[in-house]
Amino acid sequence: MVNVKSPSVKTQFSSAAQDLLDWYDKHARQLPWRIGPQARKNGVMPDPYRVWLSEIMLQQTTVPHAAPYFEKFTTLWPNANELAEAENDDVMREWAGLGYYARARNLHKCAKALAELERFPDTIEGLLALPGVGPYTAAAVGAIAFDLPIAPVDGNVERVISRLMTIGGDGSATGWAADKKEITQCVQALVPKRSGDFAQAMMDLGSGVCTPKSPNCGQCPWAKYCLAHREGNMESYPAKAKRKPQPIRKGRAFIVVSEGKVLLQRRPDKGLLGGMLMPLSSEWIEAEGGTDIPFPLEAEWQAKGQARHVFTHFVLHWDVFVAHVDARPNSLEGDWIAMDKVIDSGVPTVGKKALKLALL
Ligand code: SF4
Repeated sequence: MVNVKSPSVKTQFSSAAQDLLDWYDKHARQLPWRIGPQARKNGVMPDPYRVWLSEIMLQQTTVPHAAPYFEKFTTLWPNANELAEAENDDVMREWAGLGYYARARNLHKCAKALAELERFPDTIEGLLALPGVGPYTAAAVGAIAFDLPIAPVDGNVERVISRLMTIGGDGSATGWAADKKEITQCVQALVPKRSGDFAQAMMDLGSGVCTPKSPNCGQCPWAKYCLAHREGNMESYPAKAKRKPQPIRKGRAFIVVSEGKVLLQRRPDKGLLGGMLMPLSSEWIEAEGGTDIPFPLEAEWQAKGQARHVFTHFVLHWDVFVAHVDARPNSLEGDWIAMDKVIDSGVPTVGKKALKLALL
């Protein structure tokens, strides 16, 4: 266990933090939500709304994927009050493609909560009280928007610190718990006065230099401190947790077309893809072999192939069927959307996959 209170460790950490900031001053990425290090030194601080929005979008997705969504959201809704007043359907539609739709619902809820406040919360407790804001996001927003002395720890940061200090974990649940605690303690002890720049420098270092495979140690400001680099076994850190194979769930998508329109139904607010418009579907169940699922109405159903989609906890194998019917069936409720608009009507990616198979 690294003794972060020992004077020699403190001296090393403070010089490592300074070297990282010097590197960041020269190599900071330009991002649409970021205020660069020079501007920050001149007293310009980022709009916390933009920092918060970017952090929510960046959970589980990459910067290049999130950036156009960020631009779109901030053009449509430049502040929390305007986002709070938006229609939920509009927010969900613009979010479609970013995945994890519960996050979009929480985003909208959070904007409403922010609109009730006099100012954006600038303490970790205040940030944690917002809907959809967990410890990582609170730390990221707190550091980046307000220079609170805290470091957000995500997978990238974990990897960098794990290599820097050769804290590897043994792959077991308890080993990881202990190591994560130690990693958090180390990164926390590294945080300098410019905590917002430090947090962003760690993000840049983790995503661009200390990459999971083939880290670019030759360009790394921490090469002289890094124990894994010294040992020459950077890729052994962090130890890989054993992953269980994802269970497979099966189901059927029923694309009903009538008079040039396609029937979509809104999913219940709670649960997976809550509140989203989707094609009709059977339940998704874990099943060995085939499944015998009835069709929702009598029609000439054509099999169109299988849409596959990876969710966090399972992989969906969704058999897609389409039926063209003359009259809209009274037995089925939902929204009828024109065929040329349906793909872009706010349907999440999994629904788009089924629609494309059926209609294109
Ligand atoms: S020296 Fe290499 S392994 Fe160590 S932190 Fe830098 S990039 Fe990562």
